[in-house]
Amino acid sequence: MRLKDKVAIVTGAASGMGASTARIFAAEGARVVVTDLLEDEGRAVVDEIAGAGGEARFQKLDVTSEADWDSVVAETMAAYGQLDILVNNAGVSGSHPDKLNIETWDAQMNINAKGVFLGMRAVIPTMQKAGRGSIVNISSISGFVGQDFVHMGYNAAKGAVRLATKSAAVQFAADGVRVNSVHPGIMPPMRSSMLTADPEVRRKMIATIPAGREGRVEEVAYANLFLASDEASYITGIEVPVDGGFLAA
Ligand code: NAD
Repeated sequence: MRLKDKVAIVTGAASGMGASTARIFAAEGARVVVTDLLEDEGRAVVDEIAGAGGEARFQKLDVTSEADWDSVVAETMAAYGQLDILVNNAGVSGSHPDKLNIETWDAQMNINAKGVFLGMRAVIPTMQKAGRGSIVNISSISGFVGQDFVHMGYNAAKGAVRLATKSAAVQFAADGVRVNSVHPGIMPPMRSSMLTADPEVRRKMIATIPAGREGRVEEVAYANLFLASDEASYITGIEVPVDGGFLAA
């Protein structure tokens, strides 16, 4: 098993790519802390993992709350005595129809960018103490290029995640902490998607993908798995697009 004896926190794990990551990590032997704002859906993921013979627990976490982060790390250490992996996956869509909306900019910065920083800030001291750790930050193809259907705040926040990943990688490599980013392309719509949930908009977006289809959530989860595992022990500060060739075109 690729994550035997590891403990992983996954944010936004009640849904989509986070839920898939939690399931796959547990199937690979990790004890998984499933965190999200959505309690019922998060607990359902934990039940599913337990039903398949895996080990997981749910904890409510708003990634914008320092107090929630402190409590997730404290409870994880109390329950499992170690913390090896963080997948900073929680996020909200930027496909807002009003491209100049100020609240969208603020929400993007607060949840999609600052939430990732707060997660790294919360786990890094524990990982430094242990002399090991792997952080996977979920950015997007939107961290590389501007897009018609996405508020510039989403591009900016995902770009911030991409570069903050490299800062952290450089600053904590000597402590044994690896930090990498994963950049999903066009995936199933997010719960918070607006424009990008529209079938006609999706048809146009998919037409720009060399692979000719949207991605599947587990295709991102398996990239997360590789980076989280010791198979990637000399890999830090890199960006892994999972995008059917979009950024190569
Ligand atoms: P999703 O909407 O299915 O899941 C996101 C989860 O994050 C939800 O369960 C939601 O409750 C949670 N969340 C939102 N705000 C939160 C907060 N403040 N605190 C804690 N949890 C919060 O979406 P998804 O497609 O699985 O997206 C996962 C990640 O992938 C996001 O960071 C997203 O930006 C990124 N991404 C998505 C796509 C796509 O097309 N779906 C493409 C590229 C990148």
